[in-house]
Amino acid sequence: MSHRLRTLDDGAWVSVNDRRRAGASELWRVRGVCDCPVADLLVEGIVDVGVDRRTVTARVAGRCLACSRETVTGHLAVGRFVDGSYRPVSDDAVRVTAGESARSRVGGAEPATDAGGGE
Ligand SMILES: [Zn+2]
Repeated sequence: MSHRLRTLDDGAWVSVNDRRRAGASELWRVRGVCDCPVADLLVEGIVDVGVDRRTVTARVAGRCLACSRETVTGHLAVGRFVDGSYRPVSDDAVRVTAGESARSRVGGAEPATDAGGGE
């Protein structure tokens, strides 16, 4: 199963299968982008989108409302596919940047359980 992921409007939106699913001006709770325990990150633009198994991810440019640090994140979960349907990450979920750690941990909530498969 393939999904169409892209950014729209110069990075204002994450588009999943031609529907706008996440975008600028949203407020995301993100750990690890500044010195705050959990940043209140005001999303200013989508830098890149990706998919890791069933998790849709995006790198975003944004600013922590608490400490004003501007940052470009690593891949953060924006949603995932469950039985082929897209489910957004809940607004109050704390997103963790994948960074240098295993990409399979994108989303943080649960490890990927797909055995084998690969590309
Ligand atoms: Zn901060």
